[in-house]
Amino acid sequence: MDHADIVIVGTGHGGAQAAIALRQHGFTGSIAMIGRESEPPYERPPLSKEYLAGEKPFERIYLRPPQFWADKDIALRLRTSVVAVDPQMHEIVLSDESRMGYGKLIWAAGGDPRRLSCPGADLAGVHSVRNKADVDRMIAELEAGAKRAVVVGGGYIGLEAAAVLRKLGCEVTVVEALPRVLARVAGEELSRFYEDEHRQQGVEVLLDATVDRIEGDGRKVTGVGLEGGAVVPADLVVVGIGIVPSVGPLIGAGAAGANGVDVDEFCRTSIDDIYAIGDCAAHANAWAGGAVIRLESVQNANDMANTAAKSICGDPQPYKAVPWFWSNQYDLRLQTVGLSLDHDETVLRGDPGERKFSIVYLKEGRVIALDCVNATKDYAQGRRVVEAGIKPDREALADTEISLKALL
Ligand code: ADP
Repeated sequence: MDHADIVIVGTGHGGAQAAIALRQHGFTGSIAMIGRESEPPYERPPLSKEYLAGEKPFERIYLRPPQFWADKDIALRLRTSVVAVDPQMHEIVLSDESRMGYGKLIWAAGGDPRRLSCPGADLAGVHSVRNKADVDRMIAELEAGAKRAVVVGGGYIGLEAAAVLRKLGCEVTVVEALPRVLARVAGEELSRFYEDEHRQQGVEVLLDATVDRIEGDGRKVTGVGLEGGAVVPADLVVVGIGIVPSVGPLIGAGAAGANGVDVDEFCRTSIDDIYAIGDCAAHANAWAGGAVIRLESVQNANDMANTAAKSICGDPQPYKAVPWFWSNQYDLRLQTVGLSLDHDETVLRGDPGERKFSIVYLKEGRVIALDCVNATKDYAQGRRVVEAGIKPDREALADTEISLKALL
Protein backbone atom coordinates (compact mmCIF):
# COMPACT_ATOMS: atom_id res chain seq x y z
CA MET A 1 0.00 0.00 0.00
CA ASP A 2 1.17 3.51 -0.84
CA HIS A 3 1.81 5.87 2.02
CA ALA A 4 2.83 9.52 2.34
CA ASP A 5 3.57 11.55 5.43
CA ILE A 6 1.29 14.24 4.04
CA VAL A 7 -1.46 13.42 1.59
CA ILE A 8 -3.10 16.43 -0.04
CA VAL A 9 -6.48 15.87 -1.65
CA GLY A 10 -7.09 18.33 -4.47
CA THR A 11 -4.77 19.93 -7.02
CA GLY A 12 -6.35 23.38 -7.10
CA HIS A 13 -4.87 26.55 -5.64
CA GLY A 14 -5.18 25.35 -2.05
CA GLY A 15 -3.71 21.89 -2.57
CA ALA A 16 -0.82 23.19 -4.66
CA GLN A 17 0.03 25.96 -2.24
CA ALA A 18 -0.09 23.56 0.73
CA ALA A 19 2.57 21.40 -0.92
CA ILE A 20 4.67 24.43 -1.87
CA ALA A 21 4.41 25.92 1.62
CA LEU A 22 5.33 22.65 3.33
CA ARG A 23 8.57 22.51 1.36
CA GLN A 24 9.20 26.23 1.93
CA HIS A 25 8.86 25.67 5.66
CA GLY A 26 11.41 22.88 5.52
CA PHE A 27 9.18 19.84 5.59
CA THR A 28 11.32 16.94 4.36
CA GLY A 29 8.87 14.04 4.66
CA SER A 30 6.99 12.54 1.75
CA ILE A 31 4.16 14.53 0.16
CA ALA A 32 1.57 13.18 -2.26
CA MET A 33 -1.12 15.19 -4.02
CA ILE A 34 -4.20 13.47 -5.38
CA GLY A 35 -6.37 15.13 -8.00
CA ARG A 36 -9.30 14.16 -10.12
CA GLU A 37 -8.17 16.18 -13.12
CA SER A 38 -5.64 15.22 -15.77
CA GLU A 39 -3.46 18.32 -15.51
CA PRO A 40 -0.90 19.39 -12.93
CA PRO A 41 -2.08 22.34 -10.81
CA TYR A 42 -3.19 25.39 -12.79
CA GLU A 43 -4.81 28.74 -12.11
CA ARG A 44 -8.60 28.74 -12.02
CA PRO A 45 -9.51 32.43 -12.44
CA PRO A 46 -8.36 32.64 -16.09
CA LEU A 47 -10.73 29.80 -17.05
CA SER A 48 -13.72 32.14 -17.22
CA LYS A 49 -11.58 34.99 -18.59
CA GLU A 50 -8.36 34.81 -20.64
CA TYR A 51 -8.43 31.07 -21.25
CA LEU A 52 -12.02 31.07 -22.49
CA ALA A 53 -11.25 34.18 -24.55
CA GLY A 54 -8.30 32.42 -26.19
CA GLU A 55 -5.94 35.11 -24.91
CA LYS A 56 -3.81 32.80 -22.76
CA PRO A 57 -2.72 29.33 -23.82
CA PHE A 58 -2.98 26.66 -21.15
CA GLU A 59 0.81 26.47 -20.68
CA ARG A 60 0.70 30.00 -19.30
CA ILE A 61 -1.72 29.23 -16.52
CA TYR A 62 0.15 26.41 -14.80
CA LEU A 63 0.71 27.38 -11.17
CA ARG A 64 4.26 26.03 -11.51
CA PRO A 65 6.05 24.49 -14.49
CA PRO A 66 4.97 20.82 -14.61
CA GLN A 67 8.50 19.68 -13.72
CA PHE A 68 8.42 21.67 -10.45
CA TRP A 69 6.48 19.00 -8.54
CA ALA A 70 8.96 16.22 -9.23
CA ASP A 71 11.84 18.60 -8.52
CA LYS A 72 10.37 19.27 -5.06
CA ASP A 73 9.72 15.59 -4.51
CA ILE A 74 5.96 16.08 -4.45
CA ALA A 75 4.22 13.04 -5.92
CA LEU A 76 1.28 13.92 -8.16
CA ARG A 77 -1.41 11.32 -8.60
CA LEU A 78 -3.80 12.64 -11.23
CA ARG A 79 -7.12 11.32 -12.61
CA THR A 80 -7.82 9.89 -9.18
CA SER A 81 -10.41 10.86 -6.59
CA VAL A 82 -10.74 9.99 -2.95
CA VAL A 83 -13.96 8.12 -2.23
CA ALA A 84 -13.59 7.41 1.49
CA VAL A 85 -11.50 8.33 4.52
CA ASP A 86 -10.69 5.90 7.31
CA PRO A 87 -9.42 8.00 10.22
CA GLN A 88 -8.75 5.03 12.54
CA MET A 89 -6.40 3.39 10.06
CA HIS A 90 -5.10 6.75 8.75
CA GLU A 91 -5.98 5.59 5.25
CA ILE A 92 -7.94 6.89 2.30
CA VAL A 93 -9.72 4.85 -0.35
CA LEU A 94 -9.15 5.93 -3.95
CA SER A 95 -11.41 5.72 -6.98
CA ASP A 96 -9.42 2.74 -8.29
CA GLU A 97 -10.29 0.97 -5.00
CA SER A 98 -6.71 1.03 -3.76
CA ARG A 99 -5.89 2.39 -0.31
CA MET A 100 -3.26 4.88 0.65
CA GLY A 101 -1.91 5.60 4.11
CA TYR A 102 -1.37 9.11 5.44
CA GLY A 103 0.39 10.69 8.37
CA LYS A 104 -1.62 13.88 8.00
CA LEU A 105 -4.30 14.59 5.45
CA ILE A 106 -4.96 18.03 3.93
CA TRP A 107 -8.39 18.16 2.32
CA ALA A 108 -8.36 20.79 -0.43
CA ALA A 109 -11.05 19.28 -2.66
CA GLY A 110 -12.95 22.51 -3.31
CA GLY A 111 -16.41 22.04 -4.70
CA ASP A 112 -18.40 20.73 -7.60
CA PRO A 113 -20.36 23.18 -9.70
CA ARG A 114 -23.95 23.28 -8.60
CA ARG A 115 -26.10 21.94 -11.42
CA LEU A 116 -29.54 22.97 -12.52
CA SER A 117 -32.14 20.50 -11.35
CA CYS A 118 -34.66 21.22 -14.12
CA PRO A 119 -35.47 19.00 -17.11
CA GLY A 120 -32.79 19.13 -19.81
CA ALA A 121 -30.01 20.14 -17.41
CA ASP A 122 -27.77 17.35 -18.74
CA LEU A 123 -28.18 18.11 -22.45
CA ALA A 124 -25.07 18.53 -24.58
CA GLY A 125 -24.28 22.23 -24.80
CA VAL A 126 -24.93 22.90 -21.10
CA HIS A 127 -21.66 23.77 -19.36
CA SER A 128 -20.24 24.60 -15.97
CA VAL A 129 -17.03 26.56 -15.56
CA ARG A 130 -14.88 24.83 -13.00
CA ASN A 131 -12.05 23.08 -14.80
CA LYS A 132 -10.12 23.02 -18.06
CA ALA A 133 -12.22 20.24 -19.53
CA ASP A 134 -15.41 22.29 -19.00
CA VAL A 135 -13.97 25.28 -20.82
CA ASP A 136 -12.41 23.19 -23.58
CA ARG A 137 -15.85 21.77 -24.37
CA MET A 138 -17.23 25.28 -24.53
CA ILE A 139 -14.43 26.49 -26.80
CA ALA A 140 -15.01 23.55 -29.16
CA GLU A 141 -18.68 24.48 -29.50
CA LEU A 142 -17.84 28.13 -30.10
CA GLU A 143 -15.38 27.07 -32.78
CA ALA A 144 -18.09 24.90 -34.31
CA GLY A 145 -20.28 27.99 -34.66
CA ALA A 146 -22.29 28.38 -31.45
CA LYS A 147 -23.49 31.99 -31.45
CA ARG A 148 -26.38 32.30 -29.04
CA ALA A 149 -25.36 31.92 -25.43
CA VAL A 150 -27.44 31.91 -22.28
CA VAL A 151 -25.63 32.34 -19.01
CA VAL A 152 -27.55 31.08 -15.98
CA GLY A 153 -26.44 32.87 -12.82
CA GLY A 154 -25.28 36.45 -12.41
CA GLY A 155 -22.41 35.83 -10.00
CA TYR A 156 -18.80 36.57 -10.93
CA ILE A 157 -18.40 33.36 -12.91
CA GLY A 158 -21.52 34.02 -14.96
CA LEU A 159 -20.77 37.67 -15.58
CA GLU A 160 -17.15 37.03 -16.54
CA ALA A 161 -18.26 34.34 -18.98
CA ALA A 162 -20.91 36.70 -20.36
CA ALA A 163 -18.29 39.41 -20.97
CA VAL A 164 -15.97 37.01 -22.81
CA LEU A 165 -18.77 35.48 -24.89
CA ARG A 166 -19.88 38.96 -25.86
CA LYS A 167 -16.33 39.86 -26.88
CA LEU A 168 -16.24 36.70 -28.96
CA GLY A 169 -19.29 37.95 -30.82
CA CYS A 170 -22.04 35.85 -29.27
CA GLU A 171 -25.54 37.03 -28.51
CA VAL A 172 -25.65 36.74 -24.75
CA THR A 173 -28.50 36.59 -22.25
CA VAL A 174 -27.88 36.41 -18.51
CA VAL A 175 -30.63 34.77 -16.45
CA GLU A 176 -30.45 35.65 -12.77
CA ALA A 177 -32.97 34.29 -10.27
CA LEU A 178 -32.67 37.18 -7.79
CA PRO A 179 -33.67 40.82 -8.33
CA ARG A 180 -30.02 41.80 -8.89
CA VAL A 181 -26.74 40.29 -10.05
CA LEU A 182 -23.89 39.72 -7.57
CA ALA A 183 -26.34 39.67 -4.67
CA ARG A 184 -24.34 37.09 -2.74
CA VAL A 185 -21.13 39.07 -2.79
CA ALA A 186 -21.73 42.80 -3.32
CA GLY A 187 -23.99 45.70 -2.43
CA GLU A 188 -26.77 46.95 -4.63
CA GLU A 189 -24.86 49.87 -6.20
CA LEU A 190 -22.24 47.53 -7.62
CA SER A 191 -24.94 45.17 -8.89
CA ARG A 192 -26.66 48.01 -10.72
CA PHE A 193 -23.39 49.24 -12.19
CA TYR A 194 -22.57 45.80 -13.62
CA GLU A 195 -26.11 45.25 -14.90
CA ASP A 196 -25.89 48.59 -16.77
CA GLU A 197 -22.44 47.82 -18.05
CA HIS A 198 -23.47 44.45 -19.46
CA ARG A 199 -26.57 45.96 -21.03
CA GLN A 200 -24.49 48.66 -22.67
CA GLN A 201 -22.26 45.95 -24.05
CA GLY A 202 -25.32 44.38 -25.63
CA VAL A 203 -25.98 41.61 -23.11
CA GLU A 204 -29.60 40.99 -22.23
CA VAL A 205 -29.80 40.81 -18.44
CA LEU A 206 -32.94 39.12 -17.10
CA LEU A 207 -33.51 39.52 -13.36
CA ASP A 208 -36.03 37.69 -11.17
CA ALA A 209 -35.90 35.09 -13.90
CA THR A 210 -36.11 31.40 -13.09
CA VAL A 211 -35.09 28.60 -15.43
CA ASP A 212 -37.91 26.14 -15.83
CA ARG A 213 -36.30 23.75 -18.34
CA ILE A 214 -33.55 23.45 -20.91
CA GLU A 215 -34.94 22.63 -24.31
CA GLY A 216 -33.19 20.47 -26.86
CA ASP A 217 -33.65 18.84 -30.24
CA GLY A 218 -32.91 15.38 -28.87
CA ARG A 219 -29.22 15.91 -29.49
CA LYS A 220 -28.28 19.23 -27.99
CA VAL A 221 -29.59 22.36 -26.37
CA THR A 222 -31.78 24.73 -28.38
CA GLY A 223 -33.09 27.10 -25.74
CA VAL A 224 -33.71 27.95 -22.12
CA GLY A 225 -37.31 27.92 -21.00
CA LEU A 226 -38.13 30.38 -18.23
CA GLU A 227 -40.88 30.23 -15.67
CA GLY A 228 -43.78 32.11 -17.21
CA GLY A 229 -43.27 30.44 -20.55
CA ALA A 230 -40.70 32.51 -22.46
CA VAL A 231 -37.96 30.60 -24.25
CA VAL A 232 -34.55 32.16 -24.91
CA PRO A 233 -32.97 30.45 -27.95
CA ALA A 234 -29.50 29.07 -27.21
CA ASP A 235 -26.72 27.03 -28.81
CA LEU A 236 -24.67 27.20 -25.65
CA VAL A 237 -25.69 27.42 -21.99
CA VAL A 238 -23.25 28.35 -19.25
CA VAL A 239 -24.34 27.55 -15.72
CA GLY A 240 -22.63 29.59 -12.98
CA ILE A 241 -24.84 29.09 -9.95
CA GLY A 242 -22.24 28.39 -7.29
CA ILE A 243 -20.64 25.27 -5.93
CA VAL A 244 -21.44 22.39 -3.63
CA PRO A 245 -18.45 21.79 -1.34
CA SER A 246 -16.78 18.42 -1.99
CA VAL A 247 -16.66 17.02 1.51
CA GLY A 248 -18.66 13.80 1.29
CA PRO A 249 -15.84 11.41 2.30
CA LEU A 250 -14.87 13.62 5.27
CA ILE A 251 -18.40 14.00 6.57
CA GLY A 252 -18.85 10.27 5.97
CA ALA A 253 -15.84 9.70 8.21
CA GLY A 254 -17.47 11.70 10.98
CA ALA A 255 -15.98 15.18 10.50
CA ALA A 256 -18.13 18.01 11.82
CA GLY A 257 -19.67 20.19 9.16
CA ALA A 258 -22.84 21.10 7.35
CA ASN A 259 -22.11 23.64 4.65
CA GLY A 260 -18.56 22.41 4.01
CA VAL A 261 -16.36 20.91 6.70
CA ASP A 262 -15.72 22.80 9.94
CA VAL A 263 -12.18 23.86 10.73
CA ASP A 264 -10.56 25.72 13.61
CA GLU A 265 -8.19 28.68 13.32
CA PHE A 266 -5.36 26.34 12.28
CA CYS A 267 -7.52 24.70 9.59
CA ARG A 268 -7.86 21.49 11.61
CA THR A 269 -11.08 19.53 11.17
CA SER A 270 -12.69 17.74 14.11
CA ILE A 271 -10.79 14.56 13.11
CA ASP A 272 -7.21 14.17 14.34
CA ASP A 273 -4.55 14.73 11.68
CA ILE A 274 -7.02 15.95 9.07
CA TYR A 275 -6.90 19.56 7.90
CA ALA A 276 -9.22 21.23 5.41
CA ILE A 277 -8.54 24.39 3.40
CA GLY A 278 -10.02 26.55 0.68
CA ASP A 279 -13.54 26.65 -0.76
CA CYS A 280 -14.77 23.69 1.29
CA ALA A 281 -13.51 24.84 4.71
CA ALA A 282 -16.10 26.48 6.99
CA HIS A 283 -14.31 28.68 9.47
CA ALA A 284 -14.99 31.51 11.91
CA ASN A 285 -13.82 34.53 9.94
CA ALA A 286 -12.57 37.58 11.83
CA TRP A 287 -13.58 39.85 8.94
CA ALA A 288 -17.15 38.56 9.09
CA GLY A 289 -17.46 39.37 12.78
CA GLY A 290 -16.49 35.82 13.67
CA ALA A 291 -19.35 34.24 11.71
CA VAL A 292 -18.70 30.75 10.36
CA ILE A 293 -18.45 31.06 6.58
CA ARG A 294 -16.81 29.53 3.55
CA LEU A 295 -14.86 31.74 1.18
CA GLU A 296 -14.48 30.81 -2.46
CA SER A 297 -11.36 32.65 -3.52
CA VAL A 298 -7.74 32.17 -4.45
CA GLN A 299 -6.67 34.32 -1.51
CA ASN A 300 -8.50 32.12 0.96
CA ALA A 301 -7.16 28.91 -0.60
CA ASN A 302 -3.57 30.17 -0.54
CA ASP A 303 -3.68 31.67 2.93
CA MET A 304 -5.38 28.65 4.48
CA ALA A 305 -2.78 26.44 2.77
CA ASN A 306 -0.06 28.48 4.44
CA THR A 307 -1.87 28.27 7.80
CA ALA A 308 -2.14 24.46 7.58
CA ALA A 309 1.46 24.07 6.41
CA LYS A 310 2.80 26.21 9.26
CA SER A 311 0.74 24.34 11.79
CA ILE A 312 2.08 21.02 10.49
CA CYS A 313 5.65 22.37 10.57
CA GLY A 314 5.35 23.33 14.23
CA ASP A 315 4.81 27.06 13.78
CA PRO A 316 1.04 27.38 14.30
CA GLN A 317 -0.43 30.80 13.52
CA PRO A 318 -4.16 31.39 13.49
CA TYR A 319 -5.81 32.16 10.16
CA LYS A 320 -6.77 35.82 10.02
CA ALA A 321 -5.93 37.01 6.51
CA VAL A 322 -8.04 39.85 5.14
CA PRO A 323 -10.21 38.52 2.30
CA TRP A 324 -9.56 39.92 -1.16
CA PHE A 325 -10.80 39.07 -4.57
CA TRP A 326 -10.83 40.35 -8.12
CA SER A 327 -12.93 40.10 -11.25
CA ASN A 328 -12.16 41.33 -14.77
CA GLN A 329 -15.04 42.07 -17.11
CA TYR A 330 -14.59 44.05 -20.33
CA ASP A 331 -12.14 46.82 -19.42
CA LEU A 332 -13.30 46.87 -15.81
CA ARG A 333 -10.93 45.64 -13.15
CA LEU A 334 -12.80 45.07 -9.93
CA GLN A 335 -10.79 44.53 -6.77
CA THR A 336 -12.47 43.78 -3.50
CA VAL A 337 -11.07 43.78 0.00
CA GLY A 338 -12.89 42.79 3.18
CA LEU A 339 -16.36 41.27 3.37
CA SER A 340 -19.26 43.60 2.66
CA LEU A 341 -22.18 41.34 3.42
CA ASP A 342 -22.97 42.66 6.87
CA HIS A 343 -22.73 46.37 6.01
CA ASP A 344 -25.31 48.92 7.12
CA GLU A 345 -24.07 51.89 5.07
CA THR A 346 -22.17 52.59 1.86
CA VAL A 347 -20.16 55.58 0.70
CA LEU A 348 -19.35 56.15 -2.97
CA ARG A 349 -15.91 57.45 -3.91
CA GLY A 350 -15.61 58.64 -7.47
CA ASP A 351 -17.99 58.50 -10.39
CA PRO A 352 -19.34 55.24 -11.80
CA GLY A 353 -20.04 57.23 -15.00
CA GLU A 354 -16.29 57.56 -15.44
CA ARG A 355 -15.85 53.84 -14.87
CA LYS A 356 -13.46 54.50 -12.01
CA PHE A 357 -14.86 54.47 -8.48
CA SER A 358 -14.98 52.65 -5.18
CA ILE A 359 -17.84 51.63 -2.97
CA VAL A 360 -16.88 51.71 0.68
CA TYR A 361 -18.91 49.50 3.00
CA LEU A 362 -19.34 50.45 6.64
CA LYS A 363 -20.81 48.74 9.64
CA GLU A 364 -21.61 50.86 12.68
CA GLY A 365 -19.38 53.53 11.19
CA ARG A 366 -16.39 51.24 10.71
CA VAL A 367 -15.02 50.49 7.23
CA ILE A 368 -15.41 46.74 6.65
CA ALA A 369 -14.89 46.39 2.88
CA LEU A 370 -14.33 48.11 -0.44
CA ASP A 371 -15.28 47.25 -3.99
CA CYS A 372 -12.90 49.19 -6.24
CA VAL A 373 -13.53 49.43 -9.98
CA ASN A 374 -10.50 50.57 -11.98
CA ALA A 375 -9.30 52.16 -8.72
CA THR A 376 -6.23 50.20 -7.71
CA LYS A 377 -4.92 52.88 -5.39
CA ASP A 378 -8.13 52.82 -3.36
CA TYR A 379 -7.87 49.05 -3.22
CA ALA A 380 -4.27 49.06 -1.97
CA GLN A 381 -4.89 51.78 0.59
CA GLY A 382 -8.37 50.49 1.40
CA ARG A 383 -6.88 47.25 2.62
CA ARG A 384 -5.08 49.16 5.36
CA VAL A 385 -8.26 51.04 6.20
CA VAL A 386 -10.15 47.75 6.57
CA GLU A 387 -7.36 46.23 8.64
CA ALA A 388 -7.30 49.25 10.90
CA GLY A 389 -11.10 49.21 11.20
CA ILE A 390 -11.25 53.00 11.31
CA LYS A 391 -14.42 55.08 11.57
CA PRO A 392 -13.74 57.86 9.05
CA ASP A 393 -15.63 61.04 8.38
CA ARG A 394 -18.12 60.31 5.56
CA GLU A 395 -17.37 63.45 3.60
CA ALA A 396 -13.65 62.81 3.62
CA LEU A 397 -14.27 59.22 2.61
CA ALA A 398 -16.31 60.33 -0.41
CA ASP A 399 -13.72 62.92 -1.47
CA THR A 400 -11.38 61.47 -4.10
CA GLU A 401 -9.01 64.39 -3.51
CA ILE A 402 -8.30 62.87 -0.10
CA SER A 403 -6.40 59.60 -0.26
CA LEU A 404 -7.67 56.74 1.86
CA LYS A 405 -4.23 56.54 3.40
CA ALA A 406 -4.72 60.03 4.79
CA LEU A 407 -7.72 58.79 6.77
CA LEU A 408 -5.65 56.33 8.75
P1 ADP B 1 -20.39 31.69 -8.84
O1 ADP B 1 -19.16 31.63 -8.02
O2 ADP B 1 -20.67 30.45 -9.62
O3 ADP B 1 -20.49 32.94 -9.64
P2 ADP B 1 -22.36 32.77 -6.92
O4 ADP B 1 -23.05 32.01 -5.85
O5 ADP B 1 -21.51 33.91 -6.55
O6 ADP B 1 -21.56 31.66 -7.76
O7 ADP B 1 -23.41 33.32 -7.97
C1 ADP B 1 -24.39 32.50 -8.50
C2 ADP B 1 -25.58 33.34 -8.95
O8 ADP B 1 -26.51 32.49 -9.57
C3 ADP B 1 -26.28 34.05 -7.82
O9 ADP B 1 -26.48 35.38 -8.19
C4 ADP B 1 -27.61 33.30 -7.70
O10 ADP B 1 -28.67 34.13 -7.31
C5 ADP B 1 -27.82 32.81 -9.12
N1 ADP B 1 -28.60 31.58 -9.23
C6 ADP B 1 -28.58 30.50 -8.43
N2 ADP B 1 -29.41 29.55 -8.88
C7 ADP B 1 -29.96 30.05 -10.01
C8 ADP B 1 -30.90 29.55 -10.97
N3 ADP B 1 -31.42 28.32 -10.84
N4 ADP B 1 -31.24 30.34 -12.00
C9 ADP B 1 -30.69 31.57 -12.13
N5 ADP B 1 -29.83 32.10 -11.28
C10 ADP B 1 -29.46 31.35 -10.23
